[in-house]
Amino acid sequence: MHFTGTIWRPPYELNSALLQVAAGCTHHNCKFCSLYKDLPFKFRLSPMSEVEEDLQELSAYHSCAKRVFLTGANPFALSVDKLIEIAQKVHQYLPKVKSIGCFSRVTDITTKTLEQLKELRQLGYDGIIIGTETGDDDTLRFMRKGYQALDIVEQLNRLDEAQIAYHISYLNGLVGSGNSQNSALNTAKIYNKIHPVSISIVALTIFPESDLFTEIRNGTFTETGELEKLQEQKTLIEHLTILTTVYANTISNTAPLVGKLPQDKEKMIKHLQYAIDNIDEAELKRYRKNIRHL
Ligand code: SF4
Repeated sequence: MHFTGTIWRPPYELNSALLQVAAGCTHHNCKFCSLYKDLPFKFRLSPMSEVEEDLQELSAYHSCAKRVFLTGANPFALSVDKLIEIAQKVHQYLPKVKSIGCFSRVTDITTKTLEQLKELRQLGYDGIIIGTETGDDDTLRFMRKGYQALDIVEQLNRLDEAQIAYHISYLNGLVGSGNSQNSALNTAKIYNKIHPVSISIVALTIFPESDLFTEIRNGTFTETGELEKLQEQKTLIEHLTILTTVYANTISNTAPLVGKLPQDKEKMIKHLQYAIDNIDEAELKRYRKNIRHL
């Protein structure tokens, strides 16, 4: 298999066949991001010969795969023609595959018409994962995400219309110290206008390779405290009114939880409040400092 650099995939893609069609990120500009920094290039599209060789290999040892996950930061940025060609090859080599997933930026959806999105859905593209990070405009701007909160609503509603299901992620603490409540409320307002299958809440962990690390050193960004992060997460969950599943169970989460909304809302809020009341900031800080890799 032609895997390049560290391969990132969501936990729920555990049983999917992984296929590299691109490596790196077309944007490569978010201040907090240290992913894909191990690659000697920003973004690379795999030649179809490589993709086909990998599919041949997959057909030998993963012939029953029902789902393929395309690796890389945002393969959904590829042209519609390229995504169609990839899907056709996937179905040729792995005839049992029902769906194809990948990470996508909000802006990768913008470049596709509704008809094209529907065509991609017909070919199996579904369960796309989008790192929305926050619905707070000031934070999106400061972090150089390259879109604003209303773009999230507009583009994800287009996925709804094309019947492409999607998962989103929220970066807890991204707003910085002192502004968490506002950020959580702004985000809840935006998320209540979309229909994600799940929201993964990942707590911000800043690594030295990121530009945000330099901002902290220069005094232009102050990291959100650990208890403040938990409070922010609690406020976000409290104000969500959509049907979805919340995952906050990665190594980054200091009070791990998983729950469905709305039925598990109270349970999740109580769990977070218990953590806020009973865990010491210094202890949580120590934990965060010792995280070496997400
Ligand atoms: S956060 Fe995502 S979009 Fe931003 S630079 Fe990192 S991989 Fe690219």
